[in-house]
This record gives sequence, C-alpha cells and structure tokens, in this order.
Amino acid sequence: MMSTYNWIDTIHVTEDMLERKDQRLPVIWISALDCTGCKEAFTRSFEPTTLDAMLNFISLEYSELLSAAGGFQVEAHKESIFETYKGEYILAVEGGIPESDEFLMIAGKSVRKEIIHAAKNAKAVVAFGSCSSWGGIPAAGVNPTNAGDIRSVIPEDIPVALVPGCPPIPEAMIGTLLHVHFHGELPELDKKLRPKAYYQKTVHMTCHRKSFFDQKLFAESYDDDGARKGYCLFKLGCKGPAAFNACESMGVDRCIAAGFTCIGCSENGFWDKGGFCGGKKRIK
Ligand code: SF4
Ligand code: SF4
Repeated sequence: MMSTYNWIDTIHVTEDMLERKDQRLPVIWISALDCTGCKEAFTRSFEPTTLDAMLNFISLEYSELLSAAGGFQVEAHKESIFETYKGEYILAVEGGIPESDEFLMIAGKSVRKEIIHAAKNAKAVVAFGSCSSWGGIPAAGVNPTNAGDIRSVIPEDIPVALVPGCPPIPEAMIGTLLHVHFHGELPELDKKLRPKAYYQKTVHMTCHRKSFFDQKLFAESYDDDGARKGYCLFKLGCKGPAAFNACESMGVDRCIAAGFTCIGCSENGFWDKGGFCGGKKRIK
C-alpha cells in the first residue's frame, strides 16, 4: 500500500511555523512494564522520519533505552529537566504501571513514584501504547502486578493523551508530539482521550479489503484461493470493525496489508479478548 499520510496537513503546520527556530520540545520518556516495542516503533517513523523530527522539533532528554548516557549522569539530567523546563516538557509513558513500588525499580527508584514525580511539572502526559493507555498486556489475565493505566496513577488535572496500539503507529506517536511542539497544546482528543486525527475511524472503515467485505467475498483460511486474491479476512476473526486506529486510513503497511487479521491491538483489553489466538473471541 502507498502511504497517504501527510504530517504537515494533518497537524496544520504552516510554512511560517516551519521556518521559526523554536526550541525543540523536551520529552522525558519513562518506561514501566513494557516490552520496548513502543520505543522501537518510535524510531521507525517515515512521515516525518524520526531523525528529522528529533533533529528539528523534538528533544528526547531521557529514555532508559534510547539515551546515549546512562547511570547517575542520565538520572541527574532527567532531574534537571524537571526544573529547567518546568511546565514545558512532555512526559511520555510506555508500559503498564504496577500497583506496588517494589515490582519495578530503575536506578534504585520506584518507577511508579517516578512517573508521579515527573508528571507533576509536565506540560502534558502522553501514554504511548496500549499498556500505558489501558493496562494492556501487563494487566491481562490474572494481572500478577495489579498493573494499571496512566490515569490510575497521575492526578486528574494533568492533561493526558492516549496513543494506543501494540505498538502504536510511529507517525501517530511523532505526530502527537509535533502537534504540541507547533501548537503548544495536545491535539483534539476524543472521549477516550485519543487524538482524533488518528483514532476517529475503525480500521474496517477504510480497509483496502472493504470492497470484498461488501461483496461478501471472504478468505476461509490463510492459504486458500480467497486469501491469495486478497479477500476480506473477517471470517478468520478480523477485528478491524471494532478497532479504532489509522493503520488503513494512513496506508501504513500493518497487519491486513501483510495478510493477517487485525487483532484490535489499539483497543482496551485486546489481549483478553483474543490477542493472537486467531480472533476467535470478538471485541464487543
Ligand atoms: S479485512 Fe478486516 S478490516 Fe478489512 S474489510 Fe475485512 S473485516 Fe474489515
Ligand atoms: S491492523 Fe489492527 S492489530 Fe494491526 S496494528 Fe492496526 S489496529 Fe493493531
């Protein structure tokens, strides 16, 4: 599929804005119970490229994985950003947040407490991925750490945007930060706090296989003639009709383009509602 996404139009950036030499947006990225998939996705944006975004608009000041520095040095730098850019930096959170401080510590500090501390002076908090947005995989099943989402730990008056997905679309992550950089505030959010620009439609609504769905032409297995012809994957358990995400509308090559069903990874509780089981359970 060809990507149809244009970040400048989506974020409403004018030429004047591009020519301004604003300070880059400081971002502190704290990882809780995560698999690092969101960070890896973040490094793979094409529109704009992650490199362009980082060199020109976003300054990633702290990330346990992506910072070049480590140890005491980077922890001290993080603390200095809280003061120097009070009210100006974005706190990005990846991963579900365990109920107990002891379940996850970094640099000798409870990650849960560090998120609360970092959120206090942040301009806004952006939850990257389904784990920080909804609890996600750490909260699935018996939820052994009683993991919760970002809103279970930070005060209600702190502005929050959720960018769910497992992982989220890289361009949606970068685009949300760029909106803050260029407009000074979070983008318009829906009732569930997701940026409308990326989460207004279901995958099904703009799916490139939708014409086959409308004609009732379905693949019955992953290796039958229908699958080879690119027919709709609904009978294989596709959850695109219940998954709000921009994979198909932006034309980024994700599950359905790769010939696999949508598993609704951007939806709350997707793992307990089927996960990778081939879609036998449907999201209600
Ligand atoms: S493959 Fe899934 S999202 Fe696409 S048309 Fe079929 S049911 Fe809808
Ligand atoms: S197609 Fe569905 S499962 Fe795949 S990335 Fe998009 S929302 Fe997630």
